[in-house]
Amino acid sequence: MNRSGQPRLRRLLPDAVLVDASTLVRGQALVVDGGRVVGLDDPIHPEVERFPGELWCAAPVMAHAHLESFDAPAATWPRTGFAAWAEALVEWRRGPRRDDAESADATLDLLGRGGCGLVLAHVGGELGSESAAAAGRGRPELICLRELFQPDPELAEAALAEARGAPVALHSPFGVSSDLARRAFAAGGLISIHLGEHPEERQFLATGAGPLADLFRRRDRPVARQRWDSPVDWLEDVGGARRGTLAVHCGDLGAAELTRLHVAEVGLVWCPGTHRWFQRPPPAFLDADGPLPALGCDSLASNETLDPMREFRLAHAALPAAGAQAWWRAATETGARLLGREELGHLRPGADCRCLRFRPGRSLASAAEACSLLSAVPPLRPLGPAGLPA
Ligand SMILES: [Zn+2]
Repeated sequence: MNRSGQPRLRRLLPDAVLVDASTLVRGQALVVDGGRVVGLDDPIHPEVERFPGELWCAAPVMAHAHLESFDAPAATWPRTGFAAWAEALVEWRRGPRRDDAESADATLDLLGRGGCGLVLAHVGGELGSESAAAAGRGRPELICLRELFQPDPELAEAALAEARGAPVALHSPFGVSSDLARRAFAAGGLISIHLGEHPEERQFLATGAGPLADLFRRRDRPVARQRWDSPVDWLEDVGGARRGTLAVHCGDLGAAELTRLHVAEVGLVWCPGTHRWFQRPPPAFLDADGPLPALGCDSLASNETLDPMREFRLAHAALPAAGAQAWWRAATETGARLLGREELGHLRPGADCRCLRFRPGRSLASAAEACSLLSAVPPLRPLGPAGLPA
């Protein structure tokens, strides 16, 4: 028995199990031992637990989020330019608002209700990675990276020292000095960075001018003297074009730039809700030579809600030619793999059985049909947070 009074070994029989984006199993029980998938078994076993009418699948993974800004009044902020939006965000964060720890709690609760199984968050502000909201029942597992924003090269060492050895994220190519980025990437490990998000970033790097550079100068922040034609040139220059780097957004990168990231084994993460919120043109992911990006949801400062199933649906709606199955793989296994958690994002033997349960109310014949159903509108809602039924 486990702590909730359930036997360690369980045989669970929903109508259908979407084992992964390519495999749908019907009429076989999922055998789980201590929360880990052991395999599939004949449903006639006397101890089988039945869940009629249900479709089960692995919980999606959000490979990019922030825990702050849950209460951001973003509906009133400009969306057509990044610098104007960033200025509104900075001004709001300087005023009275809910404490960052409460914002983190609310963020994780909302993601949990949406069925998120694992989330990677950049944390900043008052929120230390060690003190970020605790995981709890109904909440996703959390990987925290302390986000560094320090464009002054003279303060690179101090910024890294402040992180006290905790895993870090870098804000962006414009938000950190190349010296700071070089040191962070040289230290190895998983490093996430917003990259190739919008044309203002490209303009800033290539010319040191434009709305973002104007904002920096108004706020007395240094603008690097060195120039890079592409955000990918910048990443290569600072040693970040390597496995373990997560490039987040990438919606302003062309196919050749994306392919360079793929070749360097940089992990790509896209936030379809934020892309849509800023009304950006379609990204070039399908024209590049490489896999689809993992998905993220960013924060409520630039998204309407935090809902992993919605991010999956929006990705499919924005770039339907990839197909619902490919986007389901991106929303689950790709994110888990990029975060170093290959036991998540699927229900094959060895998987940590973090299930989402749906009641589609009809029979499903194939994985393609199940993925299409999950990507359809009106949306199916998960019956509860990710996990096994009590
Ligand atoms: Zn972000």
